[in-house]
Amino acid sequence: MDDQSVVKAVKISFFESLNSHHLQHSINDIVDILIGVIKTQLCVRHAAFYFYNKQLDSFTPHTNDNEILIEALPKLQYGKCYKVEKDIIFPFIHEDKLHGLLLINEIDDRFHRSTLDEIVQACSSFYINALMINQASQKEQKYKQLYRLTEKFHSFMNRDDVLVELITTLQGMYEHYLFYLFLSHDNENHSELPIKSLGFDEQTGNEKAMEAFVTGKSQLSSNQQSQETVFYTPLKGKQGVYGVLQVVANQGIDLTYENRNFITLLSTAAGNALENAQLYEQSKRLIKDLQLINETSHQLNKNLRLTDNMTYMSSRITDSFDANEVGFFYFQQDGSLQILPGSTRFFETEMVSEYIRYVREKIEKDLEGIFIGDFTAHIENAMFPSVMAVPMVQSDSLKGFALVLHKRPYHFTFDMFKLLQSLIHHSTLALTNSLLREELETLVKTDHLTQLYSRKYMNECIENSMKNDRKGTYILFDIDDFKKINDTYGHQIGDKILVQVAKIIKSNIREKDIGARWGGEELSLYLPQVELETGVAIAKRIVERVRENTEPMVTLSCGVSYWDAKNHINYNQLFSKADQALYLAKNKGKNQVIIQA
Ligand code: GH3
Ligand code: MG
Ligand code: MG
Repeated sequence: MDDQSVVKAVKISFFESLNSHHLQHSINDIVDILIGVIKTQLCVRHAAFYFYNKQLDSFTPHTNDNEILIEALPKLQYGKCYKVEKDIIFPFIHEDKLHGLLLINEIDDRFHRSTLDEIVQACSSFYINALMINQASQKEQKYKQLYRLTEKFHSFMNRDDVLVELITTLQGMYEHYLFYLFLSHDNENHSELPIKSLGFDEQTGNEKAMEAFVTGKSQLSSNQQSQETVFYTPLKGKQGVYGVLQVVANQGIDLTYENRNFITLLSTAAGNALENAQLYEQSKRLIKDLQLINETSHQLNKNLRLTDNMTYMSSRITDSFDANEVGFFYFQQDGSLQILPGSTRFFETEMVSEYIRYVREKIEKDLEGIFIGDFTAHIENAMFPSVMAVPMVQSDSLKGFALVLHKRPYHFTFDMFKLLQSLIHHSTLALTNSLLREELETLVKTDHLTQLYSRKYMNECIENSMKNDRKGTYILFDIDDFKKINDTYGHQIGDKILVQVAKIIKSNIREKDIGARWGGEELSLYLPQVELETGVAIAKRIVERVRENTEPMVTLSCGVSYWDAKNHINYNQLFSKADQALYLAKNKGKNQVIIQA
C-alpha cells in the first residue's frame, strides 16, 4: 500500500466508527478505537495514549500498563507529529488546548513526514468529533439526572435524606472521584454519610473547605506531588451556606471544568433543598414551642394551687427538654431560698448546694439566665454537666429561678434555652400569684373556700389549749384520691366537694371545737377537753357521713392523736402522731380512722 492508501484507510476506519454507538459510552472507548486503527493501519506493535491534565500539567496513561513518557516535550502544534528517538508522538490539540498524546513505538521508516502529519490530523479530528458526540450524550444524561434529583430533593423534608441522595447520585455518576461532606453543625445518626466536620482545626483540606463555606464560592486545589486535585463547592441556599461538598480526584485523574460545573449545579440544588428542609424543621419546632408556651400559660392561669401549677410546669419542662432534674426556687423575705413543690427529688439532696450557690450568685448579679454545656469547668465531677437556669422576674424584682439539669454534657441546645426563658417569663406572674395566695391563706384566720379556720389560727388555739386545758384530741383528715376527682370532674367540682366535706365536719362539732383547712385537701379538727374515745367516735362519724353524703362520692382517711396530763407531749408531737396515723390509714386502704395516741 502506498502512503495515500494508508491515509485513506485510516480516514475510512474513523468515519465508520464515528457512526457506531460505542462512542457514547466513554472516552476510553474512543481511545481504544483510536489505538486500534493506528495499530492496524500503520502496522505498529505498540501505541499508547496519555491524557493531559491541565491542573497538574501532567500526563495520565490511558491504561495502567502504559509505561511513562518522554522527559522533555517539544513544543506541540496542531496537526504535526514529532519524532523522539525511535518513537513518534501524535498530539491531540483542539482550539489551542492540548487533550492528550498518542505515543507510537517503532514506526515503519517508509512513511513520509507529511503522510504522518496527515494521519495526525485525521486522528485529531476523529478524537475531537468523537469527544463531542460523547460529551453531548453525557450532557443529556447528566441533565436528566439533575432534573430527576432536583425533583426528588423537593419531596424531602429531612436534611439527611437530601445529603444521602446527593452523595449516592454523585458516586453513581463519577465513580473515579471521592466525595465528602463538611457540615457546620453536625447532627448524629447518619453513619452512611462521609462526613467530615468543619472546624477551625489544622486538619488539611479544612482551610479550603472553610473558605468555600465562608465565601460561598467554589475552591480548587491541586497537588502535583500527590497527583491529586480537590474541589470544594458550597451547599448553598438562598439564605446561607449549609456545608461544603469535597470532591477528590487522585492518581492524576482529571477533574474537568465541565464536571466541576455540573457538580456545583448539583450541590446548589442540594443546598436549596437543605434550606427548605431546615426551614420546615424550624417552623415545626416553632409551632411546637408556641404550643408549649400557650398551653402552659393557659394551665397556669386556671388559678390552681401552687403545687398543681409547679408540678405541671415541672413535667412539661421534663418532657420538652428531656431534662433529668427540674427545680424551682423562691427567694423568701429573709433572703433564704425556698424549694418550691414540683421540684424533682435531686433538689432535696445535699448535692444540689454547689449548683445553687453558683447559680444564685450569678443570677443575683446579672439578672440573666445561665446556659452551661459543661459544668465540670466550674465544679469538678459535677453530676449534671448540662445546666440551664432562668430567673423569675416580676415587676423588675427577682423572685426566684428555675434550674434544669442533664447528665450528658452539651445536652441542651441554645434554642431550648431560649424556649425555657420564654416559658418562665410567661409563667412567673401566674406562679407568684399562686404563691401569694398561698401565703395569704396562712395569714388569715378563716379559709376563704371552706370557711374553716386557717392552719395558723388553729396552731395558736392548740398551743393555748395545751397551756390551759387538761386534755385534747387532734384529728387529721385527707380526702382520698382527690386528684382523680379533679381530673375526672374538674377543679370546680373538686372545690365544691371540699366545701361539702367542710360543712359535714362543721355540722358534727361543738362551738368551741376548731375545724381548720390544714392545706390543700387536708382538713383537721382539734377538740379541746375531749377524751380520745369520744374524739375517735366523732372522727368515725365524720368519715361515714362524708362517704354517704358527698356527690360525687369521696372518702376520707383519718389519723387521730391525743394528749393529756399523763402523756404531756408538745404541739409538734401531737401533729406528727396524727400525721403518722393518717399515713397508716392511707396504706391500709384509705377510707378509715387510725389512732396513734
Ligand atoms: P391520696 O388518696 O393519697 O390522698 O391521693 P390524692 O390524689 O388525694 O393525693 P395527692 O396529694 O396526690 O393530691 C392531692 C390533690 O388535691 C391534688 C390537688 O389538685 C388537690 N387539691 C388540693 N387543694 C385543692 C383545692 O383547693 N381545690 C381543688 N379542687 N383541688 C385541690
Ligand atoms: Mg394530701
Ligand atoms: Mg388526698
